[in-house]
Amino acid sequence: MLEAKEGGKGGTCSELATTLKNALDYDHLTNCMRCGFCLPACPTFRETGIEAESPRGRIALMKAVADGLMDPDYAFETQMNHCLGCRACEPACPADVKYGQLLEQARDSVELHTKSHRWWVKLARRTAFDGMFPHQGRMRLLGGALRVYQQSGLRKLVRGSGLMRLFPKHMEQMERILPDASYRGVAEQIGSLHRAKGERVGTVGLFRGCIMDVLFTDTNKHTVELLNAAGFDVVIPETQNCCGALHAHSGEQAGAKALAKHNIQAFRAAGVDWIASNAGGCGALLVEYGHLLHDEPEWAESAAWFAKRSLDVSKLLVEHGRLQSAAAAAVAASQAQGTAAGCGGSCGGGISFASADKVRITYQDSCHLRNVMRSPEAPRKLMRSVANAEFVELYESDRCCGSAGIYNLTQPEMASQILDHKMDHVKRTEAHYLLTSNPGCLLQMKLGIEKHGMSGKMEAVHLVDFLHERLCKTER
Ligand code: SF4
Ligand code: SF4
Repeated sequence: MLEAKEGGKGGTCSELATTLKNALDYDHLTNCMRCGFCLPACPTFRETGIEAESPRGRIALMKAVADGLMDPDYAFETQMNHCLGCRACEPACPADVKYGQLLEQARDSVELHTKSHRWWVKLARRTAFDGMFPHQGRMRLLGGALRVYQQSGLRKLVRGSGLMRLFPKHMEQMERILPDASYRGVAEQIGSLHRAKGERVGTVGLFRGCIMDVLFTDTNKHTVELLNAAGFDVVIPETQNCCGALHAHSGEQAGAKALAKHNIQAFRAAGVDWIASNAGGCGALLVEYGHLLHDEPEWAESAAWFAKRSLDVSKLLVEHGRLQSAAAAAVAASQAQGTAAGCGGSCGGGISFASADKVRITYQDSCHLRNVMRSPEAPRKLMRSVANAEFVELYESDRCCGSAGIYNLTQPEMASQILDHKMDHVKRTEAHYLLTSNPGCLLQMKLGIEKHGMSGKMEAVHLVDFLHERLCKTER
């Protein structure tokens, strides 16, 4: 809660008002013409119907503070925290209001002054933001500890003892769907340099991600193999670290900036043509390093270099990789019939995908991949290219699933409500596979499938893993 009286680091609400006035970009605030076009795109507005839970309402709150018309109170803080940060309001906005930037400026200011964190929340935040995410070695240790828990029988014991019932329900649900962790990341498992197969089209630096690399190490390995097959040399700079997205979205701008600088140096030193991300949440911050460091002119050129080269792996494959033509893929489709997996080895030049069995697939957009990286088409092109796979569009696939970084842990009720509506639409697709391009969305979709009794009928899978499994044999 924000306190009105003086004390501690925070001081008074008026001090917060001053901080906000200095931090908020007034041009962006006044760009909002209050048309309301963004309202139907906003999940929290659609769930509640409350103006203050909409982008227009939140911008109005920020502007009222910037104009000195109101003192930011607990309700102000609550509205900033209720926002998913999905940024679905941005593509819907005819005035190009940079809502995501305003939100980060507001959250950063609130974080400086808030009194609402209990001591253990503060401790958990400091441990995560300062002690864990920036240190990949520690993340691997954490992965190792989780692996011991998962594989030693301890997990069975804990579940059997009913101990998990002492935790909030959403934590208990999350524990059940966590993938097997690893104490060795992608570079430790397969090395950090991987040569292209066939004609080379360029060099890609793999952004491995901090959580991604211990919970989804196989997806990172599969990303390398797909890129190699499509003609890219892949390097995995070992000095890279967390992208800083969780910091930036939680009002920890200084931490996010430090991580960004470290990554820029690591990838520049590696001399790459592109930087590939396989997590929409990370990729969205990578392409915004220029904005993140906009007030540090000495970093402007390097940050622009980095942002310009950062692409989601799907876009990299579609726009720069060696992909087989549609006609050749159709031949692969007929050859795929009756084979155990893939096209049977006669795909010719370029990468192609084929499923041994006829499958129906659908796709939940990663909000950040769609709304920030503005790349909704590349994943769909890849899915449509898979022989023997029928792609069905998920109704409102562009609407957030409720995962939103750590939103499903900090705002479990709203996240659960959003997920339930999402799963109603997912059920109607009758798909065998629910694909997505971000680890947080993937876990949320796994949770939805389990919660809605669809396990065994539908599986949530990362797009990269789905494609890798169906990569034609000659390209592996
Ligand atoms: S669509 Fe843009 S200009 Fe219109 S109310 Fe929303 S943020 Fe403001
Ligand atoms: S970021 Fe998402 S939840 Fe927040 S105001 Fe925009 S559309 Fe609504």
